[in-house]
Amino acid sequence: MMLLTKKMIEIRNILQKVGQSSTLTLPSIVVIGSQSSGKSSVLEAIVGHEFLPKGTNMVTRRPIELTLINTPGSNTDVFRTIPSACPSRPDVPDLSLIDLPGYIQVVGHNQPLELKQKISELCDKYIQAPNVILAISAADVDLANSAALRASRRVDPRGERTIGVVTKMDLVDAVRGSAILNDKQYPLRLGYVGVVSRVPTPTGLFKTGKTNVLTAITKNENAYFSSHPLEFGPGSDVSVGTTTLRKKLMHVLEQTMSASLQTTSDAIQQELEEATYEFKVQYNDRPLSAESYLAESLDAFKHSFKQFAEQFDRPQMHELLKNELDQRVLDLLAARYWNKPITDLSVPILEPDNLADLPKADPESLFWHRRLDASTSSLTKLGVGRLATTVVASSIQSHVDNLIGQSTFANHPFARQTITEAASSILNDRFYSTSDQVENCIKPFKFDIDMEDREWTQGRDHVQGVLKKELEACEGAMKDLESTVGGRRKLKEVLNFVDKARKGDIIVENENQAGAGGFSAALLQKGREAAFLRDRADIIKMRLMAVKSKQCASMKNKYHCPEVFLDAVATKLASTAVLFLNVELLSEFYYNFPRELDSRLGRHLSEEEVERFAKEDPKIKKHLEVIRRKELLELVLDKMESLRQLEGREGQRLKPG
Ligand code: GDP
Repeated sequence: MMLLTKKMIEIRNILQKVGQSSTLTLPSIVVIGSQSSGKSSVLEAIVGHEFLPKGTNMVTRRPIELTLINTPGSNTDVFRTIPSACPSRPDVPDLSLIDLPGYIQVVGHNQPLELKQKISELCDKYIQAPNVILAISAADVDLANSAALRASRRVDPRGERTIGVVTKMDLVDAVRGSAILNDKQYPLRLGYVGVVSRVPTPTGLFKTGKTNVLTAITKNENAYFSSHPLEFGPGSDVSVGTTTLRKKLMHVLEQTMSASLQTTSDAIQQELEEATYEFKVQYNDRPLSAESYLAESLDAFKHSFKQFAEQFDRPQMHELLKNELDQRVLDLLAARYWNKPITDLSVPILEPDNLADLPKADPESLFWHRRLDASTSSLTKLGVGRLATTVVASSIQSHVDNLIGQSTFANHPFARQTITEAASSILNDRFYSTSDQVENCIKPFKFDIDMEDREWTQGRDHVQGVLKKELEACEGAMKDLESTVGGRRKLKEVLNFVDKARKGDIIVENENQAGAGGFSAALLQKGREAAFLRDRADIIKMRLMAVKSKQCASMKNKYHCPEVFLDAVATKLASTAVLFLNVELLSEFYYNFPRELDSRLGRHLSEEEVERFAKEDPKIKKHLEVIRRKELLELVLDKMESLRQLEGREGQRLKPG
């Protein structure tokens, strides 16, 4: 029988993990009394330790839940809320108490007015059934004025679940004290217990330190009560002493718990049925744990990465890099060939009007030789190592991001970040050595370029595509401009104006000035952009024709076909770079990344981290919670069942006859 409270406390602790449910509460003893009634002193005497604030200025303002469990052999008490309160004692009772703030009788000038009301409301919440009320009143105050008894009367009018404690019995004369304990005005089924719970030290309570409070009190108490055998002795019919009170509390709690066994069991059964139903209907009875969820997610992610790795190889890197170099080639052509009218040299001028005449340029002219050599040199020296490594590394990184986005990790900020960091740490580690290696191996191209016919032909084919795309981009941008200025006609008007002003057909002081030609500054700016795009498109069209012409079919005319030559050089650079990117960066990444994932998302995570990870996804969180709830409820129900069997056997044993 004495095991019951301990078991029930155990059960209550499990129920607390199940989470919020008003139906699943087990009875506790709640302690109420007015300030200075001696409430803290009694509680500490029961527990056997000093742990509460005492004195006139010290008040408990929130409920303190105390759970005492006697653990034989371990010498450890368990305190909730006040963890470091006590040295360990083997004779601690199994009890569950809630200490409430003391009722305020007279509001002090430092106290907010509403505090009195708030404390009273808080106490009202806790003294509801099935809790047992421990109502503390001081012997030197008339019971009719006891705030604790008044409150208890309101919720327990027949006095069925209230234990009266009368403190400070030493402050009234023994006859009067005994009369108080026999009170008929406020009869309580569980009766009154008189105590003297002041620790008898002249130096004050705080100095008692770790001395055994209980022993000191008991000694003092015993001395007092035994000095009045008539009033408090064995034949006196009153209950006195902290030891008696402790026993009573344990007994009453045990009885109350026992009485609530059936209803609590029913409530748990009901909750379990609900959880089981939810698990079936919502989750199809699919088992899940945070670990299995993480492991499966990680496997799936690694699988998708493997698939990516199978299709992202040298050709894909080559294409990426070549695209990037194509842009650089276009920039070079624009800067050195297409966009600079050369008026001060006695060679054909590269302007739109006579651009088609380019092939007429003297193949032996040093000017054209230098121009191509300088362009080639700019291309080979632009920092291909760095560029190539950056392009491939950022592409890998963004592929990894995409893979995360398509995986279950998409809903997990923590995993997302971990994976992203795993990828970037490997890529960063490899960055400088890869970039140096690539730069090193393209070095020969900086001095001499040995090109085969096949490479020239490929370049000629390829660059046509590049030029066409550039042309499309120009035309697309032109269309965008049209729509921003409000139509083709409007753009044409401002374009005509810009052209005329440039040629000098119209004299304007400052063609950029707002208001010139009746156009706003913004419109004039658009007009100039349009002129640029149109000229660029014209040049590209002409150069496309040149590249397609017979002249550019042969490498011999390379000085007249810089587009083809530079394209072929870019391809050589890309191919060479890719060989080393593959060894230095890609293979390394493919080898290390899955291992890094295993380490960062597998081995290194604690159980709590795995749990936290899984619960980042609200759906998974709900799923896990339903399973956990179900498991806990099953566990509780099991424990309840064995308790009931124990109770049954006990009842059987105690039956008369
Ligand atoms: P609380 O405010 O209700 O928690 O009351 P305390 O436990 O702090 O006690 C208030 C005062 O009454 C303290 O000075 C205690 O020493 C004193 N006191 C408590 N119990 C007794 C007792 O049984 N006898 C005597 N004489 N004084 C007590």
